Amino acid sequence: MNIIFRLQAYMGKRKILLPSSLLLAGLSSLFTVAPLVFIWLIVKELLTNNKNPANDMIAYYGWCALGTALIAITLYFLALTLSHLAAFRVEVEMRRQAMDKIVRMPLGFFDRNTSGKIRKIVDDNASTTHTFLAHQLPDLAATLSMPVLLLVLLFMFDWRLGLATLLPVFVAMTIMGIMMGLGGKSFMRKYLDALEQMNTEAVEYVRGIPIVKVFQQTVYSFKNFHKAITDYREMVFQYTLQFEKPMTTYLTIVQGIVYVLVPVGILLLTSAENYTEVLVNIIFYIILTPLFAQTIMRSMHFTQNITLAKEAVDRVENLISAEVHSQSSHPKPISSYGINFNNVSFTYPGKDTKAIDSISFTIKAGQHVTLVGASGSGKTTIARLIPRFWDVDSGEVIIGANNVKEISNKELMQNVSFVFQNNKLFKTTLLENLRYGNESASMKEVERALDRAQCREIIERLPQGLQTKIGAEGTYLSGGEQQRVALARAILKNAPIVVLDEATAFSDPENEHLIQKALKELMQGKTVLMIAHRLSSVVESDTILVLSGGKIAEKGRHEELLNNKGLYLQMWNEYKKSVEWTIKKEAV
Ligand code: ADP
Ligand code: MG
Repeated sequence: MNIIFRLQAYMGKRKILLPSSLLLAGLSSLFTVAPLVFIWLIVKELLTNNKNPANDMIAYYGWCALGTALIAITLYFLALTLSHLAAFRVEVEMRRQAMDKIVRMPLGFFDRNTSGKIRKIVDDNASTTHTFLAHQLPDLAATLSMPVLLLVLLFMFDWRLGLATLLPVFVAMTIMGIMMGLGGKSFMRKYLDALEQMNTEAVEYVRGIPIVKVFQQTVYSFKNFHKAITDYREMVFQYTLQFEKPMTTYLTIVQGIVYVLVPVGILLLTSAENYTEVLVNIIFYIILTPLFAQTIMRSMHFTQNITLAKEAVDRVENLISAEVHSQSSHPKPISSYGINFNNVSFTYPGKDTKAIDSISFTIKAGQHVTLVGASGSGKTTIARLIPRFWDVDSGEVIIGANNVKEISNKELMQNVSFVFQNNKLFKTTLLENLRYGNESASMKEVERALDRAQCREIIERLPQGLQTKIGAEGTYLSGGEQQRVALARAILKNAPIVVLDEATAFSDPENEHLIQKALKELMQGKTVLMIAHRLSSVVESDTILVLSGGKIAEKGRHEELLNNKGLYLQMWNEYKKSVEWTIKKEAV
């Protein structure tokens, strides 16, 4: 039952809604018994006074049956109205809290949880709680209140008949208990896991279709998705099979109460002194049994539904509670813009080798430092530790005088610009895309940023200039153009610290030239950590760090490193060869 309290926590000031709804639902269920009792009274009147039935009494009972039935319906309607209000409240609040936390997640969180998966988890589980609160809980209240009344009624007239009704019910409940034990909770978890896996794969599959098509990979790409579906089917199938026998027995017994009742009734009738009275009693029990059976049937799914609702709340709460970054309660401001890595090591969750290992280096305010190294050597990881994509395992990342953990997220985000390979542009106007960098920027500032980022010709080409919606009506920008818009955004943001990760990858030569110009504008006067894609942009760096296997292998300026005749010289020679090769190829 503590699930109800957990859900109440999302109810804010409307905590009264749910209890009121449950109370009304309970009352309504008591009133559904009343018409049956009145109908039985009519039968009784007809049987006992069969010579001369009191017509006015019968009419009176009839009206009472109708009246109580109407009251029951009205109460149920009110109960559902309140429960729906409560459910919407919880659903909205759950989504709100989830979103609120998700925006405060460390960025690394989104590496492991695709946006499709996050959306699914929050959406599906919020609506599971909706069904539970709006429909199942009022039904639960109704069911719980009914047996008490039924028990009283059952024993009120003839305990022997009462017992005859109750015995099968008891057996049925026992079987139900056994069935609940089969799989039960652990099954629900597995079931939801499988469902989630299938949904995630579906989203990934759809998202991957362009790539699938380009590489003609139908069978391979389908494999994960297909496996998720067959796993799901297999599991549900296995689970269902084990219920085959107990379920049939259970249903037979519940629906078959009357088969016990009738023989016992006949037995009683044969030995009865007052034949009519016993017959009237038997009819009473026969009228009531269907209601009893129905109540038990409804209650059968409760344990399941409660488990489902609990799982739903768990899933949302796990998703959002797992990894919110610790935020210092007394955040410190960023006073100056130097960066310092002090013996930093970091291992990705679930991996056993360190992605970076005891890294130490300093970028003085205003200096430009470049990371180079083979793929997988740890460059991106280092860059991402600055904006706290993840927190370090050991060592410190310091900006100015303070550990990044002591700086508030807001301050950190305001002072650091990152430009990554796949900077996303939002499906909105170009102007709004730019203003994400700086909401209060004037038009003049926007124009200036566009010029500095070499975006002028992009704007002029677009039908509605800055007001053009990206991604709408065939307005798409090439990768290089998107990159330049992203740089314009960063320029507009004008943060004193700039982190660039392979910002020029995937661009064609013309774009490359424009992007280099835009990068220069962006980096001017800033503290910069850059991951170089092409070594040509490295030459002017204040310091170059050569990474290998998560460690700093060499460190120095371009000429120093060349003279070192180590890893860097090797990379430089290879780079020169590839450039000459390109030039030769273009000359042909
Ligand atoms: P680089 O940018 O130099 O190519 P990375 O910093 O991306 O290198 O990767 C360093 C190491 O960490 C690699 O071994 C890589 O496989 C691993 N790695 C990178 N990103 C993740 C991630 N999100 N989860 C797990 N391991 C990762
Ligand atoms: Mg990288």
